[in-house]
Amino acid sequence: MSKRVTSRHSRMSLLRSRAAVLAVGVGATAVLGAGVAAAATEAAPQAAVKTAATKATASWVDPVKRYTLSAGFNQAGNLWQHNHSGQDFAVPTGTEVVAAHGGTVVKAGGNGAGDGPAYGNAVVIKHGNGTYSQYAHLSRIDVRIGQVVATGQHIALSGSTGNSTGPHLHFEIRTTPNYGSAVNPVAFLRGQGVTV
Ligand SMILES: [Zn+2]
Repeated sequence: MSKRVTSRHSRMSLLRSRAAVLAVGVGATAVLGAGVAAAATEAAPQAAVKTAATKATASWVDPVKRYTLSAGFNQAGNLWQHNHSGQDFAVPTGTEVVAAHGGTVVKAGGNGAGDGPAYGNAVVIKHGNGTYSQYAHLSRIDVRIGQVVATGQHIALSGSTGNSTGPHLHFEIRTTPNYGSAVNPVAFLRGQGVTV
């Protein structure tokens, strides 16, 4: 009798342990999910989540060193089929363009690297947390698809290829590699502590 009670008790303990492990697993997944969403949308519902996301993606830099900001994000204009999807940095043709953050080159080439002829020669770099940066109207591309680049590493020279009225770098921050997922790049960079 006493043996049976002991046996039943340990089975209950085992079930409780399994339930606890399962609960911990679910909790961790939920926290990770919230962090990724916050980084992608810049909307951080909890201060703790935003701090964690910022730390993980620290050390961003401007894509060109000396520039004048020209056309801004979401600006309307007859140059664009929809509102402007990035921020323009006015720089002379041949200005060094660097990776705004470390990552892997996922697009590089003419025709907007697949995003359309309006972009001219373009590069897209994949970073962590569902963030991508895009560089367009380049006169020369110095990276290839699959190449890993560090923050501030030379990737290209600026230009005026594609749908452009003068030399400048068109810069986008995207939540996917593709056109249509851009967020405000100046707000994003400032959120990373970069002076723009
Ligand atoms: Zn532009």
